[in-house]
Amino acid sequence: MTSEGDSLVKRVYMDANATTPLLPEVMEAMRPYWMERFGNASSIHLDGQQAHAAVDRARATLAEFFNCHDAEVVFNSGGTEGDNTAIFGLLRPGDHFVTTSIEHSAILAAAERIASHGVETTFVAPQPSGLIDPAEIRRALRPETRLISVMLANNETGVLQPVEEIGRIAREAGVFFHIDAVQGAGKIPLDVRRFGCHLCSISAHKMHGPKGVGAMFVRRGTPIESLIVGGSHERRRRAGTENVPGIVGMAKAAELALLSLEDGTIDRVAALRNRLEAGILKLSGTGVNGAHLPQNLGAPAPGFRIWESTNPVPRVANTTNIWFDQLEGEALVIALDLKGFAVSGGSACHSGATEPSHVLMAMGLNKTRARASLRFSLLKTATEADVENVLKVVPEAVEHLRAISPVAAGTLG
Ligand code: PLP
Repeated sequence: MTSEGDSLVKRVYMDANATTPLLPEVMEAMRPYWMERFGNASSIHLDGQQAHAAVDRARATLAEFFNCHDAEVVFNSGGTEGDNTAIFGLLRPGDHFVTTSIEHSAILAAAERIASHGVETTFVAPQPSGLIDPAEIRRALRPETRLISVMLANNETGVLQPVEEIGRIAREAGVFFHIDAVQGAGKIPLDVRRFGCHLCSISAHKMHGPKGVGAMFVRRGTPIESLIVGGSHERRRRAGTENVPGIVGMAKAAELALLSLEDGTIDRVAALRNRLEAGILKLSGTGVNGAHLPQNLGAPAPGFRIWESTNPVPRVANTTNIWFDQLEGEALVIALDLKGFAVSGGSACHSGATEPSHVLMAMGLNKTRARASLRFSLLKTATEADVENVLKVVPEAVEHLRAISPVAAGTLG
């Protein structure tokens, strides 16, 4: 997407995994619920009933999006709350938790916090490809394991994890299974029944919906304790007056995401991503993080497509993570920003931190290469012109930075 910033420079935004703008239809759907239909969904009068009906309609849309029953959808404030709810809502002292070392900090920090409440966590490392081997998840299980949490798509590499197989392992072991689907939602079809999970968290702002609203699939009968207590909202699973405009916006975004999966939009985004990737890889000393499918993992599960590209690992359509030898990734992010292009040098949630990405490090990259990596993540409104414009500026910026780079001069480790 190209936008006009304050500086009147045409900007190209390729950081969709950090956040996305509202689509106009989402804005329009939300608009009445800020003012004329402002009712509290818990009130019994007409204004309240209108708000309640809007939340009910949104719940039905989200149920279709997850492929679950309406009563299994809980609205919340986003991915972080969903991830925290899975961990703090299910785990008790003495329980064991299995997750991966490439999760979002919403999982990793919660695992760290719950350690002080007597819950031990095993962090399964990925293969160099960025894929989690389900056999490693099975190996990590103990008699006291109560929960497995694995992300659907990694925010930094876009690599899609074999959640269906992990779901089978969880079922066989009688262990609860949570999927952080924040980066997969809207990019591949979600099907919580096929995934075999008990809990699944998504966030509206990663799929052209509003910030600060999310939804969680909670399979009927899952004994989850609510993180936030108060009123009896959301069938006592999440207290607090419903964010009606946000919920309505999220439902519209989900509805449009379902359409995009069917009308060729996602295939178009994949073709643009592949064009971008192939163009950048023409530069010497570059490569993709999240490739080289290990033989033992076999073909991706249904719905997990490998869009025509040189990369044999199943990834979401919009993301590529590329390393550039002999330069500092942050320097390239800044150089591109100054030219009007927004990309990310790792997880946006860590921006400002100089530590190399924990995801890339877990995949076995050394610090220098992890630091020299950039994430390009396309909006579904991305255009060919956006890609061609990026391809015009990247080679020049890389050449310039390599010429002056302390990494190239060997003065930085
Ligand atoms: N999980 C993943 C994989 C994410 O990428 C993010 C956000 O970057 C989150 C969770 C947190 O979601 P939210 O921003 O809605 O709290």
